Amino acid sequence: MASNTKTSRIHLPDLFRLAELAINHGEVEALTGQRHFSEPVALGWDKTRPLSSRNPVFHAYGFGGAGLTLAPAIAEEISHTICPEILQPSPPHKHNDVIILGAGYIGIFTALALRKDLDNREGQDITIRVLASSLPRGCSTVLPETSEPSLADNFPSQIAGGFVLPLHIGHLKDHKHWPKIVLRTQEIWEQMSKSPTLNRTVKDVRALVFPDPDSSHSIKKPKVEDLNRLFHTPLYPEMNVAELGYTQCLGSNYNKSEKQTCEVFHFPDMTCFDSFIQVDTSSVLLYSMEEVLQKNMTITQLSCPLESYTELTEHFQPDTRTFVINASGCGASTVFGCQPSIPIRGDLMVLKVPLNLIPADLQHIDQYSYWAGSHYVFIRHELYRPWIHIVLGGSCIENDSDLTLRPKELSEILNFWFDLFHIPPGSSAIDSYSKKKALLIKQVLDNCQ
Ligand SMILES: Cc1cc2nc3c(=O)[nH]c(=O)nc-3n(C[C@H](O)[C@H](O)[C@H](O)COP(=O)(O)OP(=O)(O)OC[C@H]3O[C@@H](n4cnc5c(N)ncnc54)[C@H](O)[C@@H]3O)c2cc1C
Repeated sequence: MASNTKTSRIHLPDLFRLAELAINHGEVEALTGQRHFSEPVALGWDKTRPLSSRNPVFHAYGFGGAGLTLAPAIAEEISHTICPEILQPSPPHKHNDVIILGAGYIGIFTALALRKDLDNREGQDITIRVLASSLPRGCSTVLPETSEPSLADNFPSQIAGGFVLPLHIGHLKDHKHWPKIVLRTQEIWEQMSKSPTLNRTVKDVRALVFPDPDSSHSIKKPKVEDLNRLFHTPLYPEMNVAELGYTQCLGSNYNKSEKQTCEVFHFPDMTCFDSFIQVDTSSVLLYSMEEVLQKNMTITQLSCPLESYTELTEHFQPDTRTFVINASGCGASTVFGCQPSIPIRGDLMVLKVPLNLIPADLQHIDQYSYWAGSHYVFIRHELYRPWIHIVLGGSCIENDSDLTLRPKELSEILNFWFDLFHIPPGSSAIDSYSKKKALLIKQVLDNCQ
């Protein structure tokens, strides 16, 4: 598909046809998960187990709806902070080592960043072990004894839509390094989008932003414009929508005479930004997990989440001072006695289609992502097979820790995007449109895996 060769004209996707392709020739997956939100984000030494203690604990959790986005830069930040400390001899212990609790984006990326820094500073003998109850999807292909994650595991790194944008996050923005972290994370993801192999799944796209249909969320969502204001040169350059124009492709539910391509400007409040990075969540995590193993770090799957600090100490080695990094997402409050993070529920519908089945006139879709408040449409490319995902989101429900799928939530998401992209301009076609939409929503939900 024609990624990275953005045509100037803006296209809206033919979601009806894409949904039909997924139902008839691909896969449909419904997902729900929690954004673990801490206010402020926990990033620093534990107060009761500080650097001066025998086994210092460094917390890095509660990144809300931006953990995937920030992971590369946060990992560097953690590594720069703790690497010099780990390199200090600490008699009477003969060695120092590191345990990272968590194999999500923060844990896996921290392992890689720390290994790199230690190796560059003659710390090759310092071992890094990752311990976690849930491992990235595909783990059993790399580590045969391990089990695949499920929704009940509460493992958001497997649920994330995969958009690189610091949204739904606690006030790390007050942290003095906040703009630096955002800039650095964008830089690293952009490098990945140009690197061999990963560039197949880390894509630079254009974002179309529609007005938020529900601006009642109490958690403050920065707008793209607000983020841009943090920098001299905007991170996400704004495009002039009126100049670009757009094409709306109406779907196959219309008969030939009704099918039309219109260039009418329906969304006067739509804005458009460049340089958004979109990643396939599971592919990048599995790829990074494989890198961790290749660099001789160990990853151990625990049979269930740790419930106490004593259980963690069973993994400490004799004569060794162990530095612990808490990358548990939710905070693992029973282990460390720290403040648990707040759950913010999100629901997603993922339509998966083999790439070779995407017709030529729909190949423009992977150049864009679409936003309207907490609703979004992302396009992801798998790394390990030639498939594309149309990710439809989403909900944003505070203090909701339920992890069961809700057909109502999912059909509302489908309903929203079908209407936005397909609702016929005149009233004459509305009945056939409504029937077609209801049938398609039912088929999508019936086909969920
Ligand atoms: C619907 C949805 C959409 C999202 N979309 C995006 C997006 O587009 N972009 C973005 O940047 N972010 C997004 N997010 C947020 C993102 O998923 C999280 O911020 C991120 O995955 C957090 O990663 P993490 O490594 O901190 O923790 P997690 O992914 O929560 O991983 C925690 C790890 O710690 C382990 N663990 C936890 N407790 C224990 C314990 N007691 N004992 C042993 N192991 C333990 C777990 O097994 C797991 O391995 C989304 C989240 C949701 C729910």
